[in-house]
Amino acid sequence: MRLDRVKLENFRNYAAQEVFFDPVCSVICGENAQGKTNLLEAMVCLSTGKSHRTRADRELIRFEQQSFRLEGTIRARDRDFVSRIDAGAGKKKRITINDVPVRAASDLSGVLNTIFFCPEDLQLIKEGAAARRRFIDTSLCQLRPRYSAALSEYQRLHEHKTRILRDCDGRPDLIATLPDFDLRMAEVGAVLIHYRSRFVKMLSQYAAPAHSECSGGREELSIQYKTVKTVTDPFADHKTLVAQLQEHQREHHHAEVSSRQCLSGPHKDDIEVLLDGLSARSYASQGQTRTAALALKLAAREIHKEIIGEYPILLLDDVLSELDPKRQEYVLNRIGSGQVFITCCEEDRLHSLLSGSVYRVKGGVITRQ
Ligand code: ATP
Ligand code: MG
Repeated sequence: MRLDRVKLENFRNYAAQEVFFDPVCSVICGENAQGKTNLLEAMVCLSTGKSHRTRADRELIRFEQQSFRLEGTIRARDRDFVSRIDAGAGKKKRITINDVPVRAASDLSGVLNTIFFCPEDLQLIKEGAAARRRFIDTSLCQLRPRYSAALSEYQRLHEHKTRILRDCDGRPDLIATLPDFDLRMAEVGAVLIHYRSRFVKMLSQYAAPAHSECSGGREELSIQYKTVKTVTDPFADHKTLVAQLQEHQREHHHAEVSSRQCLSGPHKDDIEVLLDGLSARSYASQGQTRTAALALKLAAREIHKEIIGEYPILLLDDVLSELDPKRQEYVLNRIGSGQVFITCCEEDRLHSLLSGSVYRVKGGVITRQ
């Protein structure tokens, strides 16, 4: 797939800007705080309906304005699409594809997929479980509409249950509603586990050779899916998973009521990355952490290709300048086919190393060189 054009109106620091991109590699350079990341953020919005940086759409509206509009021209599955997002303070976000309103923001993933990679991601392995869960969720939401719907429902149920637990003191009527929530959370949670277990298996298959290649064949990487303890086999059928999740809920019921927190469920899931059988989170060096994080991101890109049939667009935000020449070369060689957008600072001189079209960003204005 390919993003040919983006139009931004009152989005972040862009007043009105239209850009036509290179079909292969667009290098976006500029000084700090000029709008490079904002441009990539607009691309993420066009593929997922939301920003990777904030949940609040109002932050995306240019200061002192009331609404923003994004438009993208996309070539995918041998067809042309125009996706559009209109969002304004106090009104419902409106999303259309080829002028037809879509039901859910996740429908945008049927047209454009993105893999976003920034320097913070190089710490993916060392960070808390939430960062790795986000990585898996972002990929799966773009790949599997059913997963995306299940995740939204699960998050709603989780928020609701958390509120009930918080407010249930002396309110037996509220506690009485918990079994209904638990049952639905077990059912939806089983769907999450179904997809996550399969995704992590593929991730391990693709990331292992990537890591080995990048580390000069010195280390063996493997990835394991960690979910609720009572789940003995995350590949088990739906009924078994639901029953095992309910068992865990029963075991934790009293602890949940007394701690007033939702303790049981796949909202705590994680993946464990192992290097030669040892936990990378605990033992990996800086360099190993970076290599493993690279391997995960590039593996996600391959999985998209396998499932969707086309490479997602790759957004590298400042990440190349953070890598040593060996890893830079490795990433660039790995891209092979597919479209890539690379941001860098003026002084990086990276743009002279890369073949592609160069764009300069200054104060929310983009010019092609
Ligand atoms: P760096 O090289 O430091 O990463 P950048 O070019 O990626 O810089 P961006 O993150 O794109 O910079 O931000 C550019 C500017 O946009 C910032 O100065 C920020 O204050 C501004 N900005 C962010 N949100 C808005 C908004 N809603 N309205 C107007 N300006 C905004
Ligand atoms: Mg930036």
